[in-house]
Amino acid sequence: MRGIAILGSTGSIGRSTLDVVARHPERFRVVALAARGRREALLEQCRRFRPELAVLAEPEGAGELAAALRAAGLATQVATGEDGLVAAATHPGADAVMAAIVGAAGLASTLAAARAGRRVLLANKEALVMSGRLLLEAVAAGGGGLIPIDSEHNAIFQCLPAGPAGARAPGVRRVWLTASGGPFLRVPAERLAAVTPDEACAHPRWSMGRKISVDSATLMNKGLELIEAQLLFGLADGGVEVVVHPESIVHSLVEYVDGSTLAQLGNPDMRTPIAFALAWPERIESGVESLDLLRLGSLRFEAPDRRKFPCLGLAEAAARSGGTAPAVLNAANEVAVAAFLEGRLNFTAIAAVIERVLGRLPGGPAASLGDVLAADADARRAAVDLIGAGGGGRG
Ligand code: NAD
Ligand code: MG
Repeated sequence: MRGIAILGSTGSIGRSTLDVVARHPERFRVVALAARGRREALLEQCRRFRPELAVLAEPEGAGELAAALRAAGLATQVATGEDGLVAAATHPGADAVMAAIVGAAGLASTLAAARAGRRVLLANKEALVMSGRLLLEAVAAGGGGLIPIDSEHNAIFQCLPAGPAGARAPGVRRVWLTASGGPFLRVPAERLAAVTPDEACAHPRWSMGRKISVDSATLMNKGLELIEAQLLFGLADGGVEVVVHPESIVHSLVEYVDGSTLAQLGNPDMRTPIAFALAWPERIESGVESLDLLRLGSLRFEAPDRRKFPCLGLAEAAARSGGTAPAVLNAANEVAVAAFLEGRLNFTAIAAVIERVLGRLPGGPAASLGDVLAADADARRAAVDLIGAGGGGRG
């Protein structure tokens, strides 16, 4: 029986994880669930999965949650705040931790899980992009290992021989990250300034949370994933290529020096990488339908348009700069995406804000968590200033 803690259990990845877990009650036991503030949803999950610990990151409503759990006859303890998230991430009954909080808010708990030797199932790519080698060092020190959940990185993991996170596998020439291209792949560049949050979140292939949906629409998601892939697979500049593949069937590819290229294919459903990571090294049923190759007929590949989607180039530049530049990129993006989702910033101004923040804060060494958190805070302030001053180019 494998004990599982799920950070971000009420989100898209969290719910898909519980869907897979529920298919295998003889294999998995949910020991802790954590979310930001959706008390009713968390309560419902507790009723069903009976964890030992339930965490609300925002303390409002924690008293009501505890009372409702008691009324339901459950012994689930309730904790709150960052300490609560860390308690879930390091729960003594957890063998693996699904790190599925969105954004920098998931960094501390993901690091804590790694340090405590829990196997980290990493969906929260922002935590890795920000902290870089620091998270990989924590994984190595804790000894619990890391399996990527991001479909592309999970695909690459499946196409590589087993090895420690962060080390380059022998014989690899490069990896190819596939990108769906998002909802605006065929929308003319001049129309992008006027697109709405709902249009940006209407992803043609994947159903996801709103922040990553916007990142997919700007291609920043692929930029963050490029940095994620460089770190996870020990690939320096030039080792990771991006190719647009609108069908989202080939989840990524590994090219070896002998000319072999291995790919992982499947229907676009996150339950496949989640099931893979939960059961690794075994394979279990995930609820995902078989791939129907005859119905697909053909698959297309094309180059990304970096002029229309400047976020990809900004991420590539931050990756080349290294140090705290990826943390600055990530923080500016989080602030700009939140402003876009709230109707305070144009879609095309997201990239403009990030570019200006990167220009103001070129970044320095990321030798400690303190360096990373300071860069994150500076970048957030700079982005808020720019957006407040209309410097992102709204209108
Ligand atoms: P989501 O918005 O659907 O869910 C986010 C979860 O995190 C929720 O449970 C929410 O309560 C929790 N959360 C948010 N802020 C928090 C905070 N401050 N403290 C504690 N909990 C907080 O997001 P998602 O789509 O499930 O994505 C989660 C992560 O997985 C992201 O990093 C995303 O990039 C990554 N990811 C998602 C997908 C996908 O298909 N959804 C695919 C690949 C990677
Ligand atoms: Mg992905």
